[in-house]
Amino acid sequence: MRKLKNFISRNTSADSVASSVLRSASSTLFYYRYFRHQILGNPFRNFLELYIEPVGYCNLRCRWCALDHSKPKKRMDISIFQNIVDEILKDKRLQSIRWIHLHNGGESTLHPQLEEMLKIVSHAKMKASKGGINFPKVSLLSNGTVYRPSLADAIRNYGSLNLLRFSMDGGSPESYEYIRNRARWDVFRETVLKYIEAVRASEIPPQIEFICLIQNHLKPKDLKRNPEFSKFLRLSDDYEVRYAHDWGGQLPGTSKALPYPLPLHRRGCRLLLNSLVLLADGSVTVCCADLNGKGFIGTYPENSLAELYLNIKRSQMLHKIARGRNADISLCKSCGGF
Ligand code: SF4
Repeated sequence: MRKLKNFISRNTSADSVASSVLRSASSTLFYYRYFRHQILGNPFRNFLELYIEPVGYCNLRCRWCALDHSKPKKRMDISIFQNIVDEILKDKRLQSIRWIHLHNGGESTLHPQLEEMLKIVSHAKMKASKGGINFPKVSLLSNGTVYRPSLADAIRNYGSLNLLRFSMDGGSPESYEYIRNRARWDVFRETVLKYIEAVRASEIPPQIEFICLIQNHLKPKDLKRNPEFSKFLRLSDDYEVRYAHDWGGQLPGTSKALPYPLPLHRRGCRLLLNSLVLLADGSVTVCCADLNGKGFIGTYPENSLAELYLNIKRSQMLHKIARGRNADISLCKSCGGF
């Protein structure tokens, strides 16, 4: 599925007809899953992705990022992370989760115990495999500017990651540095090369991918114009192209009024339907576009993952989104859905 998503992203531009067709297809899929599992069946069948944010802060100040850098700098406690993993192993209802993403708004590699988290995942995977339980695949997304030999060793030796992604925006070293404010292309290049080298020496290496954000007037093929950028792109197993977006209206000055209700072909949100996000401070929000926890629905571990997924506030949001009433939800009022 991810491979297909990457392929489509590399072959459709922001304003293409294919892009609108995909939006309609995504609405149709939302309705299918919403009625089949949320309304008529077992809602947990829609719980496919869990985002866990190790830290809520970042060393970069990228243009087009909605992370609020004035909020207190929080790190997830390792015992909370252990709790989450234990709960996934114990609660059969959570067997539907296909992916754990070890990232959200902050830069995960800044957590000094990320290595320990990878070890916990590795033990959990072994336990799951012995007990015949499905444990989710695990991914890590990094801005590729922080290198620790101990982290490279942990990724190589624990075998806990299925996917390691790096954000590589722009299309040239210059545009990379323009978009990724405070980052330097040469540091990124060197850091990512070291991780790739370490990871490829692993017995079961994770897939390496880049996520490349480009400006709306560019086409995916423009990513290959710059020889250095293009050469680097070829080091990955795959890459996804994304266009600059406004994080559901959370970027300053981007809040806009949407049609009310939204037309049928623009309704739905797979992020809301299929995921939960545990932020570094233990607060929980409903989608990974909400980097600052505006869509707060509760805290972990005071509420279990299952309780949070069935949370009444979240269910009410889903029903409103299904009716195209995004404007009735403070978090979603400027967001056309993802
Ligand atoms: S519609 Fe709401 S829940 Fe969905 S991505 Fe936008 S802000 Fe998040």
